[in-house]
Amino acid sequence: MTPTEINQTLSARHLRPLASLGQNFLFDQNICRQLVDWLSPAAGDRVVEIGPGLGALTARLLDLNLSLTALEIDKGLCAWLREKFGPRKNFTLIEGDAVATLPTVSGCDRAIGNLPYNVSTPLLVALLRMPAPPRHCIFMLQKEMAGRLAAAPRTRDYGAVSVLLQSYYHIEPLKKLTGSVFYPAPAVASTVIQLTLRDDRPAFTTGQQREFYQFVRHGFSQRRKKLRNLIPQYNGQARAEELTVSEWHALFRQTRQPEEIFDIVNERDEVIGSAPRSEVHAMGHRHRAAHILVYRDDGALLIQLRSPAKDRHPNTWDSSAAGHVDSGETYEAAAARELREELGVTVSELKEIACLRACEETGREFVKVYETRHNGPFHPQSAEVAGLRWIRIPELEQWMREKPRDFAPALPYLWKKLNGKK
Ligand code: SAM
Repeated sequence: MTPTEINQTLSARHLRPLASLGQNFLFDQNICRQLVDWLSPAAGDRVVEIGPGLGALTARLLDLNLSLTALEIDKGLCAWLREKFGPRKNFTLIEGDAVATLPTVSGCDRAIGNLPYNVSTPLLVALLRMPAPPRHCIFMLQKEMAGRLAAAPRTRDYGAVSVLLQSYYHIEPLKKLTGSVFYPAPAVASTVIQLTLRDDRPAFTTGQQREFYQFVRHGFSQRRKKLRNLIPQYNGQARAEELTVSEWHALFRQTRQPEEIFDIVNERDEVIGSAPRSEVHAMGHRHRAAHILVYRDDGALLIQLRSPAKDRHPNTWDSSAAGHVDSGETYEAAAARELREELGVTVSELKEIACLRACEETGREFVKVYETRHNGPFHPQSAEVAGLRWIRIPELEQWMREKPRDFAPALPYLWKKLNGKK
């Protein structure tokens, strides 16, 4: 339809474009065609369209051999859509607020919509509440909103909605448009984005998803503050915008999990009690940890960059893998578990090469150090491990001498002790 035809169609039914419902109708046929092309539905696909309006995209979609469910809030437009597209087997129109109706739509492969800008956030949240979110979506959004959805950590646009949507979808901006392709033209620019469902999306229930979103929103509620001032379980130095999506998930899980329990040991490394992790650290009780040094066949050592979400020594280089010994666990079992959890590998042999006494440098931990061989590949748990690298020993030693602050204190300390033994 041209702008004149849109006007005539609306006035013939005593309707007018409602700004309160974000009614800016797309009339540029090239853009309509391109949006449907990007959606690229296959024959027989089930597609949901949010806010069909005067059917600019609906008509093109129904020309394809697919099954379409359209969600429209405006009664007058619904009447027109029923007249225009009539009862047909492959078309269902659901009248009502799509924020409420979208989560009731099941079995859709794809979603499309030129979204009403004033409710685009609740609509996108509703999309995630569908019984099975569509695997591929093409949406037109206000440019700023699209920027927020696709934003990377450590940028001004990165916020709770970015973290939530990026947990489920890979988000790719496809095209920027000015208001001139709509009637009436909105004062704002638009961006077309593509959403592709992630294989590693969380398996949240609706309740957990709501809780996660509230949790992240709370974290971002005072962006300039350190996160630990807003989320007491977080002891790191980062602000909300510095955490990646997977780090947000790890932090959320951590706050929902019962705290780990560690054995407390005496100066002879004999168990004298047990306590939750936070208490062990706050009280400075002696406890236990295992460090693992993974060597490649050519002698290079694997070192690990600790995640910025870690509560102790974030963003520093450390042994290949390391972690506390849980209550009732042996050092060796802890070492094998840390290799699995942090590096995603199991090894046939772990050789104990040192046992360090609990002291300030080890954070009041008795540390058993193990050595093993593995050439990779590794599958690091990204929330715990920010990076891995192989390093030659002379290079590592020079680096530790020149920039000791790049390392978690235990690594240079255990290295000195190991060399002292040689
Ligand atoms: N798809 C049409 C097009 O591209 O020309 C119309 C797009 S217009 C930007 C947004 C449409 O969403 C309007 O038809 C409006 O009535 C509808 N709408 C607004 N809020 C809605 C809601 N909460 N639920 C369902 N539809 C809504």
